[in-house]
Amino acid sequence: MTAVDWTVEVDPGLCMGSGMCAALAPDLFRLEGTYAEPVRARIAQDERALDAADSCPALAITVRDGTRTLGPRP
Ligand code: SF4
Repeated sequence: MTAVDWTVEVDPGLCMGSGMCAALAPDLFRLEGTYAEPVRARIAQDERALDAADSCPALAITVRDGTRTLGPRP
């Protein structure tokens, strides 16, 4: 069985450039100037992406599995 890809987005209008996501998972997020962006828009399932979405102080990260929003978790 192959892993279903997740999509990762960072809303540049919300991101405050804290760099927490890039510190937590530098292979998933990088800082570009004053805001972060995903290294890749589609990733294999990775709990660290959800951890980053949960810990983002601006709630700027969204992780989806198709149309289902997985993170940030409630
Ligand atoms: S943790 Fe959130 S606010 Fe901080 S750089 Fe990443 S997306 Fe931006």
